[in-house]
Amino acid sequence: MIQPAHRMSQLGTETAFEVLARAEVLAREGRDIINLGIGQPDFKTPPHIVEAAVKALHDGHHGYTPSPGIPALREAVCRDIEQYRGVAVSPDRIVVVPGGKVTMFFAIMMFGEPEAEILYPNPGFPIYESVIKFSGATPVPIPLLEDRDFSFDAEAVLDLITPQTRLLILNSPANPTGGTIPRETIDTLVAGLGHHPQVAVLSDEIYSRMTYDGREHVSLLTYPELEDRLILLDGWSKTYAMTGWRLGYAVWPESLTEGATRLAINCHSCVNSAAQYAGIAALDGPQDSVGEMVAAFDERRGVIVDGLNAIHGVSCRTPGGAFYAFPNVTGTGMSARELQSGLLEEAGIATIAGTSFGAYGEGYLRFSYANSVDNIRLALERMSEFLSETTATG
Ligand code: PLP
Repeated sequence: MIQPAHRMSQLGTETAFEVLARAEVLAREGRDIINLGIGQPDFKTPPHIVEAAVKALHDGHHGYTPSPGIPALREAVCRDIEQYRGVAVSPDRIVVVPGGKVTMFFAIMMFGEPEAEILYPNPGFPIYESVIKFSGATPVPIPLLEDRDFSFDAEAVLDLITPQTRLLILNSPANPTGGTIPRETIDTLVAGLGHHPQVAVLSDEIYSRMTYDGREHVSLLTYPELEDRLILLDGWSKTYAMTGWRLGYAVWPESLTEGATRLAINCHSCVNSAAQYAGIAALDGPQDSVGEMVAAFDERRGVIVDGLNAIHGVSCRTPGGAFYAFPNVTGTGMSARELQSGLLEEAGIATIAGTSFGAYGEGYLRFSYANSVDNIRLALERMSEFLSETTATG
């Protein structure tokens, strides 16, 4: 009998992909499914970005590139960071990878081992907990609190730190809640981390350009006291509607850049060359498409939050960022998983149970509002009907 390593049994998954597959099966059977499950913009990559990749291919950029990315791309990333975060970083600290997830995997594998503890948001992006367990480390959840708009109490997080804590993962704006961490909370957390110099921080800021109501994005990179232990994760997937291109980057502390590059060399050599040229065009080119997309999300956010709050048994906070609504559905009398399944199979709406994002997600459902206003309205109508029927018969 073949014997895969024990750690394989520790690996989790991302339910969004399973729900997407099931929704596609139902759609092939002729069912009309509204997909509010998958977390990707429903916009096309802007044409000037596509053209840059086509041009790169015609120009003969077909070979390997330097493992951490072509210099012009890493320089463009630094200009972008300077513009949107107001911080000057050296291109030497940038490692370009095939998607935001790869930075997450590298950072967690770099710090995770048996006996180590890693703090991560819960409910949170499911890959954090999955890879922490895969690495052999102990996942320590940071409960995100609905009454804090899905942020947390910084003092409570600091209290979770032990001598074994190696890494603290933060995500703002957040998946699946759409929550953002207020500046005062980050200030308190960063000040407290001064007493725990052994703790590195992975700040997942992949939704950094998607905030609403004039809310500022507070980047952990703006805290110089974290410079030697912060890994900043960002990328192109969400901002430029480029999820399928597989392009992301991280700013690593100087001491970890070499390790991150070695992981890249061992894992994927380099990112697809043409995609890297597209990445330069995205960062250096016009940003109108980003503004237009975020304005469209903002309108849909209003529609979905109002609509959910109008449904009996459902209450929804107004998310400050990303493109997710995370309503409390305990008043429906159904578990998150039951409701996810009922909505998909009976009402033709794909959503994701909060429990797919960790134990603290029970009682919630994630709606991705990366879909048209018309579809969102229709989904809300169907959900309302579905719940009144099940409550009447149940
Ligand atoms: N981080 C968060 C919080 C996400 O929601 C996602 C994607 O859904 C990622 C990272 C991964 O992004 P990418 O598709 O670039 O790997």
